[in-house]
Amino acid sequence: MNYETVRDTNPTIADTLQEERTRQNESLSMIASENHVSEAVMEAQSSELTNKYAEGYPGARYYGGCEFADEVEELAIEYAKELWDADHVNVQPHSGSQANMSVYLAVLEPGDTILSLDLNHGGHLSHGHPANFAGQIYDVEQYEVNPETGYIDYDELHETAEHVEPDIIVSGYSAYPREVEFERVQAAADAVGAYHLADIAHITGLVAAGVHRSPVGIADFVTGSTHKTIRAGRGGIVMCDEEHADAVDSAVFPGTQGGPAMHNVAGKAVGFGEALEPAFEAYAERTVSNAKALGDRLQEHGLSLVSGGTDNHLVLVDLRPSHPNTTGKDVEEALEAAGIVLNANTVPGETRSPFDPSGIRAGTPGLTTRGFEEDACREVADLIGEVVDAPDDEAVVSATRDRVDDLTDSYPLYT
Ligand SMILES: *Cc1c(COP(=O)(O)O)cnc(C)c1O
Repeated sequence: MNYETVRDTNPTIADTLQEERTRQNESLSMIASENHVSEAVMEAQSSELTNKYAEGYPGARYYGGCEFADEVEELAIEYAKELWDADHVNVQPHSGSQANMSVYLAVLEPGDTILSLDLNHGGHLSHGHPANFAGQIYDVEQYEVNPETGYIDYDELHETAEHVEPDIIVSGYSAYPREVEFERVQAAADAVGAYHLADIAHITGLVAAGVHRSPVGIADFVTGSTHKTIRAGRGGIVMCDEEHADAVDSAVFPGTQGGPAMHNVAGKAVGFGEALEPAFEAYAERTVSNAKALGDRLQEHGLSLVSGGTDNHLVLVDLRPSHPNTTGKDVEEALEAAGIVLNANTVPGETRSPFDPSGIRAGTPGLTTRGFEEDACREVADLIGEVVDAPDDEAVVSATRDRVDDLTDSYPLYT
């Protein structure tokens, strides 16, 4: 893809798209929620299915001409069922947030109570932040990670559940480096008669590959995103057992969406198909071993990791113990100038503003897609360690930029 056809229509946008490709090629995306899809997924996403209205579900649409939309959606569903061993999958949500919205709509009434992890501790806006619809429509109670260990305190979660009697408990997080013990969340939900939504947005691919335990068959509902650790293009999915299938389907359409973005459903089908290949399991395993190598080496640089390490694809660095005068934003900006793109992040017990928090979050899904192995991840950790020590030193930043150029040359991405 050279954007030649876009160029004929709008050279400015063609230039910008080309610049974005160059940016991705020539920098290291370590934003834990990002990845790089295949050219095949991108081609499917730019297909004529973008033109097609397919409100409804395969075999029961509100419009004519849906035979190929049906085929694509049926394949996406079939692949997803196989990947996650799910009874029922809805592949239409436009995003992970809308997948969550659909689950709430399926089983909650306005004013019902959601019990979820505090955003500062790794939760997600759609789990009930006041700025999000979920925080405005529902009552929200929160649990936290243990401030000493950085792990979810399941006993405390259980006690909180007994105290606040939620209608739904949400597990699954945006900035949690440890394996989630879904069974223990389920036990708390069972004890108080609440539903359990496991939002595996970040770890959708790790769960599919069997590298992280699965909540499917444990939680009532499982939501995921299709563009983070699985490379199926932007979007969301909902999984549940047959008992809740109709409620979920009606909550996605017509409850929260109109026509599905069928071109993205095609992208999901292609990406899920790729993930069924044996190579995907190796990819997911390497994503985790790379994150461990990254985290170990960051600790050798004296940096403090929330929970002391990682079980998944991301690490969360708390800068306060080692660099009390350096903020997450300082590091994010200096690293971006050096070609390493990650994000400043709040940490448990945050003492600063979310706009300039005390931590950084770094993930390996994107690097692993480029072919990085543990040695290359250790080298990246060295670069991060050096920049954290001297974020204002232009010589350090520029030397880092040169080494990032060498790495991106050695591990090419899009041509
Ligand atoms: C990323 C994420 C989502 C979904 O985000 P969208 O940007 O709406 O696709 C949902 N839940 C969690 C925990 C996430 O990290």
